Amino acid sequence: MPIYKIRGIEVDFPFEAYECQLVYMEKVIQSLQDGSNALLESPTGTGKTLCLLCATLAWRKSLGGFSTGKIEMKGWKAGDEDLDGRSSQPSFQPSSQPAERHLPSIVYTTRTHSQLRQVIQELKRTNYRPKMVVLGSREQLCIHDEVSLLRGKVQTNACRNLCRKRTRRPCRHFKLVADFVKGNPNLGDEPLDIEDLVNIGRTCGVCPYYVSRDLHKAVDILFAPYNYLIDRGNRKSLSLQWQNSILIFDEAHNLESLCADAASLDLPSGLLSACISEAKTCVDLSVARRENEKSNDKSCNPDNFAILRGNLISHSICIIQTLLLKLEKRIAEIPIDSKELGFSKPGPYIYELLSDLNITNKTAEKLIDIIDDAIVLLEEDTTATENGKPDKTKGSACRLESMSEILRIIFRDGSNAHAKYYKFHVQEVEKNAADAVRGDSFA
Ligand code: SF4
Repeated sequence: MPIYKIRGIEVDFPFEAYECQLVYMEKVIQSLQDGSNALLESPTGTGKTLCLLCATLAWRKSLGGFSTGKIEMKGWKAGDEDLDGRSSQPSFQPSSQPAERHLPSIVYTTRTHSQLRQVIQELKRTNYRPKMVVLGSREQLCIHDEVSLLRGKVQTNACRNLCRKRTRRPCRHFKLVADFVKGNPNLGDEPLDIEDLVNIGRTCGVCPYYVSRDLHKAVDILFAPYNYLIDRGNRKSLSLQWQNSILIFDEAHNLESLCADAASLDLPSGLLSACISEAKTCVDLSVARRENEKSNDKSCNPDNFAILRGNLISHSICIIQTLLLKLEKRIAEIPIDSKELGFSKPGPYIYELLSDLNITNKTAEKLIDIIDDAIVLLEEDTTATENGKPDKTKGSACRLESMSEILRIIFRDGSNAHAKYYKFHVQEVEKNAADAVRGDSFA
């Protein structure tokens, strides 16, 4: 394969490079050497991905060798965060983590997983073999017979329950992760995509999801969809030293709108009504469950935890239902003078509106927890079948999840500081339709 010397860096390229490819790689290396941002464009079909990979990996290699073949397990480390931002999952401390050697990690993102698959194919065509991993969700990676059929929060919760230290029915795939990672220091030395990880999981019986979670701390290059960088929760859960990382957004045409969408919230009246209806369903479900618990508990002991918890949940969800009804009423009362222009206020107005309903920085966290409980209750009911096993033919869309996300955005970090970048807008979207609340980012 030809080697090109570009700005003092030897770039191993799989083909004779075109002039435009050499220029592109020079610009990539220039920005890496200068530690600056770069916005690079090149016409379709000019091999941008290959140029990006080769130039970045050549520059990275010039700083020090890749971390291949060097994973070393130091045992469980309670308190580490997994990619959902939760703690107490096992983790392995790789001895060769680039950050420990002050070598930068590369995070290569694309919009979708199928684009990532193509990037990994391109990596296979190069001579570079950095330690790598691709991140995916439980929906893509779980191999547990029952949990893999679930979706969303129900799946996340089911997995976490099976991975707790003192659970009665632990996930057998999870239990194998520690030994598997320890016994396979070469994992990630050859390019692997999501399907490869799942195949390894099925062949060796080990959980691909947690294998990739642990491996991401040891790699030179991490592949993931954009949302692992754009979405705050995902980003926070990555164990990377951001000051020392190279972030690549491939095919970033729509990145600006994606960022705006990720930070904005939209509450159409139809969604609010659906949430109210779901809250009512949750109340009915929790009451039914509580009655069921009572009838199963022959002693009818009032100290029965399940009954107490049932009472608590039904009471809490009742509060949510009432709040949502009040919110609907409050929005309906907003005076809209102009149908065309709607009603606009600076972003901080949202706190005024919500504080009328006693939704504040102090109460929001508790409310979000209750809504999350309600979501799990609802989805458990949606996915449960007569034999108690999940049925993947049933849908599990839950509108309350949007409400939980909306509150998370508004009350993030328990501070109102970010509101100045927003505006609050109410608009009648069509004749006879109810209002919609919308907060748009100025960015
Ligand atoms: S540990 Fe892995 S295989 Fe087991 S339930 Fe969780 S995601 Fe699925």
